[in-house]
Amino acid sequence: MIDRSAIERIIDAAEIVEVIQEFVTLRKRGVNYMGLCPFHNEKTPSFSVSASKGIYKCFGCGKGGNVVNFIMEHERLSYPEALKFLAKKYNIEVVEKELTAEEIQQQNERESLLIVSSFAQKHFTGTLFNNMEGIAVGLSYFKERGYRQEIIKKFQLGFCLDQKDDFTKEALKSGYKRDYLVKTGLTIQRENYHFDRFSGRVIFPIHSLSGQVIGFGGRTLKSDPKTGKYVNSPESDIYHKSTVLYGIYFAKKKIVEEDKCFLVEGYTDVLSLFQSGFENIVSSSGTALTPEQIRLIKRFTNNVTIVFDGDEAGIKASLRGIDLILAEGLNVKIVVLPSGEDPDSYSKKLSSSGLKQFFSDNEQDFIRFKTRLLVSSTKNDDPVQRANLIRDVVKSIAVIPESITRSVYTKECSNLLLIEEQVLYSEINKIRRKKAEQNYRKLKYYEEQNLRKIPEKQTPLLTESTEFQEREIIRLLLNYGNLEFRSPNAKKDKEETIVSVAEFIVNEIINDELELDNPVYRQIFEEIHQQTNSNNHLNERYFINHPDENIRTLSADLLSLSYDLSKIWKKHESYVEPEDMKLKEIIPETLIAFKNKKIMQAIRETQDLLRSAQEKKKQDDIEILQERFIILNRLKKKLAKDLGDRIIL
Ligand code: ATP
Ligand code: MN
Repeated sequence: MIDRSAIERIIDAAEIVEVIQEFVTLRKRGVNYMGLCPFHNEKTPSFSVSASKGIYKCFGCGKGGNVVNFIMEHERLSYPEALKFLAKKYNIEVVEKELTAEEIQQQNERESLLIVSSFAQKHFTGTLFNNMEGIAVGLSYFKERGYRQEIIKKFQLGFCLDQKDDFTKEALKSGYKRDYLVKTGLTIQRENYHFDRFSGRVIFPIHSLSGQVIGFGGRTLKSDPKTGKYVNSPESDIYHKSTVLYGIYFAKKKIVEEDKCFLVEGYTDVLSLFQSGFENIVSSSGTALTPEQIRLIKRFTNNVTIVFDGDEAGIKASLRGIDLILAEGLNVKIVVLPSGEDPDSYSKKLSSSGLKQFFSDNEQDFIRFKTRLLVSSTKNDDPVQRANLIRDVVKSIAVIPESITRSVYTKECSNLLLIEEQVLYSEINKIRRKKAEQNYRKLKYYEEQNLRKIPEKQTPLLTESTEFQEREIIRLLLNYGNLEFRSPNAKKDKEETIVSVAEFIVNEIINDELELDNPVYRQIFEEIHQQTNSNNHLNERYFINHPDENIRTLSADLLSLSYDLSKIWKKHESYVEPEDMKLKEIIPETLIAFKNKKIMQAIRETQDLLRSAQEKKKQDDIEILQERFIILNRLKKKLAKDLGDRIIL
């Protein structure tokens, strides 16, 4: 458990824009920051961060909250884990209270896997630099490959001794559970013996976007390995191969700066090019690129340059994968290295500036490149081959989301393929129509699924629900609570009383002895009541960072709603007065609507009671209830009059 004061220090220190910027490129837009939402796939930014309120909100997928919520959601951490994550970033010491045996057991498994991985990385790095064999075999291998000390240190490379279980023994001795060693794949457990997965290999730790070690790649140093040259960590709760890019943690800053990302095949290519000054570089550890990885890149830039070895077979095998990148709306360029070279080898032949020159001279657009490549390897007089070629190129163009870009390519390919532009267009449109139909069907399907889910919790008296008004009351309190409010209830002969919005609303509800039905709203209301009672000031930051998760989420949601509305208004291009100018109307209207519904509830309850009293012929009760019924109806009429001829919500 982290104590309350530490939590407050963490939340005060964690600057939300700074924290989120590590994961998402944000641009200032008015008072807020906007970027592409990291929680769903989108092409135009609808993810907004408010520095002053300390909250984020995506208007596309609805995710929102405070800085801790962001880390929880993004790094898939629990609340205490996320707090610790931030504490570490801001050098805040967290003293945890002694855990009970039960609590220790409950400690999140993911965290344990991360801790084990971090221990392993330190052990392997320690071996590389401090162990005789580590230095003689591992470190000298890296040096021979031309890696400088600073790069080896930066990427936290390591070595696992060529023994059966040096690492596993050490980890068990240090108290790490066997279970976690096996789950991270560091230890391979057989019936009655175990061994190190990476023994005898140099180690490339794989880092998450936030720099935590989540997996490893290990390269054997034997020239004739019985197992593969490279061995990688298996999938685990912390390592999902398809969503990770090797090097992204070290590259992300430069990717944003240069607005471009280089993509290579593996660990060694990343290291060599990084060392040569290409710091905006990542690789997908030895597998074809996945959509998740592409989206990861897309959070930082729209421009990807893929670096290919100079062998044609490899390139052709990758073409299909590249269509995926185009479909995400990224601009793809290709650099092909001279025959027989890979980024690793070539970066050793050229100086940094020579390499930069080569890249800028040889970078070419992907579709142009693909078309040329296919043209040159197709027999033009073979009609079947030619048809396949055209279909192939058309497919690549068809996935591009942007129509201008598509038409530029279509024109160019019509020249390269010696085929009429119109023919290409009609093929492209055919593919796009088919795709659109598929998408539509998918959408319809999801909609139907969702519709089926809704009816669960319907009460027969939906019209009496005060849910909407209660939400409005809390929203007004949180957003405008400290503003001045001139009470319209002030008696004519008295001076106009000036109170705060919070005081006014709270008094209106308390004086009428009303309560909010929704327990979350009710708790917020009660806490606001206490705050305004004690110091006349409402602290909305307190609610955004409330210990209760429901309150945190709700208040973040309500505090960012004004943006939501203004966006809708803008869409309809009508000028709308800012809401705080109209509080004098909005607040009384909301309160009257709330009270009106409360009275409707009371009237119905009274009617029910009356009916049963009449059945039981309890004359005393009947009289009291009848009187109450009359009073309530009178109140209802009065409220309706207060509200003028408006329709009551
Ligand atoms: P060599 O010294 O023989 O060239 P290498 O270590 O450079 O060996 P390559 O076979 O050239 O490895 O592979 C190129 C890149 O592909 C390397 O950066 C490596 O990280 C990556 N790679 C190859 N096989 C795998 C694999 N099974 N898993 C992950 N990455 C791999
Ligand atoms: Mn190589």
